[in-house]
Amino acid sequence: MTTKRPKPGRTSDAAALFETTARQVMAIAERVTKNTRSGVEECAVAEGMLDAAISFWLHVHQPCGRPWCETCKRLDAPEKRLAVLALLVERIAREGPAYHAEHDVKDAGAPATVQ
Ligand SMILES: [Zn+2]
Repeated sequence: MTTKRPKPGRTSDAAALFETTARQVMAIAERVTKNTRSGVEECAVAEGMLDAAISFWLHVHQPCGRPWCETCKRLDAPEKRLAVLALLVERIAREGPAYHAEHDVKDAGAPATVQ
């Protein structure tokens, strides 16, 4: 598993932390799914990890509360944070090695829905 490319502009310390975190999370996924019986259980693990990742991302991107804080301006409302998160998820997914699959169809039609 190769990890995603760090966001442009990250410091080398942040890039290294990004790589370390991504590798550790993948190691947890491999450990947790080692004894799973089916793809359904792997999907449950993946969704649990995604839930935790999204919750943590939203937690660390809460505005600081200082009036006129320029750093928080783009994330000072839930809909702003959700929009940024959606863009980030799309970028990570599209750049990831698992975005295209061997058995993908050429004309996918309507996007899948979440159940
Ligand atoms: Zn702030």
